[in-house]
Amino acid sequence: MAVRTGLLLLLFTVALTACSGASASDPLEMRVNTPTPTPIPPTPTPVPEEPIELILSTTQVYQAGTVLISVTGDVRAGTIHFLGREHPLTRGDHSMYSFVGIDVDDPPGSHQARVEFETHNGSRGTLEATIEVLNTEWDVDYLYFEPGEADDLLAPGVAQEEAALLADIYDRYTAEKLWDAQWLVPTEGGITARFGSQRSINDGPPGGHHSGTDIGAPEGTPVIATNSGFVIMSRYLDVRGYMVIIDHGGGLLSGYAHLSEINVSEGQQIAAGDLVGGVGNTGLSTGPHLHWEMSVHGVLVDPWRFVDGSNGF
Ligand SMILES: [Zn+2]
Repeated sequence: MAVRTGLLLLLFTVALTACSGASASDPLEMRVNTPTPTPIPPTPTPVPEEPIELILSTTQVYQAGTVLISVTGDVRAGTIHFLGREHPLTRGDHSMYSFVGIDVDDPPGSHQARVEFETHNGSRGTLEATIEVLNTEWDVDYLYFEPGEADDLLAPGVAQEEAALLADIYDRYTAEKLWDAQWLVPTEGGITARFGSQRSINDGPPGGHHSGTDIGAPEGTPVIATNSGFVIMSRYLDVRGYMVIIDHGGGLLSGYAHLSEINVSEGQQIAAGDLVGGVGNTGLSTGPHLHWEMSVHGVLVDPWRFVDGSNGF
């Protein structure tokens, strides 16, 4: 009996010990001898290969809008074909991408964007998506000049020559992504003329399309870079006056015209928000304002849609 009593007492003590949270150094606890689990060797979990997919910032876009097309997965290179234009893919932070600019004259309706790509092991493929181009209603701006005031600058040849010079710059393509995520409004002020608006000079018939967004502001108001990149042009032009163009990489460039002065030089590296110059009235201008242009692979698009969220990025 004495032995049995002793065993019962021992079991009772173990139960009490278990409830009291005894430390591992308790000799009684040691006697319980909890088996330590044999470590299971880690089995390598296969990293799922990201599927190759198209991601569009928007599938509906107005004329003069911009669509950001990204391609995920194991893609080494590729080209987007849209409305007869080609856009090489640029290496981004998480995917390859290209901006597609919708021209003022691109026909409204559904159009196929075709992406031809190559993977790292050399296999090729094609992806397609539909982009619906919506019709944009254009404003008409009425500009008045005194007789003889701007005859030289209004001569068609002057504007055409300048447009050709700018087209040559806007067509340049820096593959490397230089822009950051956020696009900034380059000066403080209200919009005085929207992108694409048609011009009537001295009550003449409306024609052409305004190539940028005008922001009215007092002379000398700071003009900042809408995003990071480098200065590809900094000079005086007959129509646009003092002008700076920044290359943001990936076929995206921004232009700042009619400046009072220029604070940067060609080749200079630029961070988003850096001072570019001052709002001015140089060139063919009827008052101090910033004329802000954005080019996507040579297509001039509405800059304001980069900052109001309507491009979907
Ligand atoms: Zn303008």
